[in-house]
Amino acid sequence: MRSKVIAGNWKMNKVLSEAEQFADSVTGKLPKDDNVEAIVCAPFPFLPSLVEKAKGSKLKIGAQNMHSEDNGAFTGEVSPAMLHELGVTHVVIGHSERREQFAETDDSVNKKVHAAFNHDLTPIVCVGETLEQREANETMSQIETQVQKGLEGLTDEQIGSVIIAYEPIWAIGTGKSASSADANQVCTYIRNIVKNMTSENIAEQLVVQYGGSVKPATIDELLEQPDIDGALVGGASLEAESFLQLVEAGT
Ligand code: PEP
Repeated sequence: MRSKVIAGNWKMNKVLSEAEQFADSVTGKLPKDDNVEAIVCAPFPFLPSLVEKAKGSKLKIGAQNMHSEDNGAFTGEVSPAMLHELGVTHVVIGHSERREQFAETDDSVNKKVHAAFNHDLTPIVCVGETLEQREANETMSQIETQVQKGLEGLTDEQIGSVIIAYEPIWAIGTGKSASSADANQVCTYIRNIVKNMTSENIAEQLVVQYGGSVKPATIDELLEQPDIDGALVGGASLEAESFLQLVEAGT
């Protein structure tokens, strides 16, 4: 039985004092249930303080990006070793905003996924189609390319512990969510791609999230779907109350 994984992606929002207030509000209230995991993926400057505040609670702290190299002349970048030493457990890789605005490619995503495993970080790998691709019936081929290239060269065991977030780009931050049936269809497809790359057992372990305008009012229906194991949530993860409701839905 797979756990439900609710991950907040704060993007470039909040200042440190607000991030700390959020952690103070949620850490004592998260459900004790082992079947649900709660992760906040926060901007780099907040990570040390959030990791400290999350200690002893169910909250896990993730980053939203990282470089694939351990160190070097990469001004402005953050390495996987830096994140690991801080106590960060997860890292979002290949979010569509990074693919579109920061020229990330399937190749750079793949390098980062390998780097994450080399430093004991769980990658949350984002895949998803544009509206044009959906309208041209190219959703599945786009997803297949992103999943296969993103996970290339990993061991079966590593593939089984990746989190894949299916995030249709047209649904991110737009208020337009995919229907739960459509989202599930793509999540099933992702599980099948992984089955073909590995085995049925590994595919059954894989956590596949949906992301795109998820809100407390819409999460129940999404999580009822057999192949949706959680959500990657932007806007609705910023308020403590709403984040707690999203996590509660996973119990
Ligand atoms: C995201 O940032 O990955 C996301 C899905 O954002 P939102 O929930 O705001 O659409």
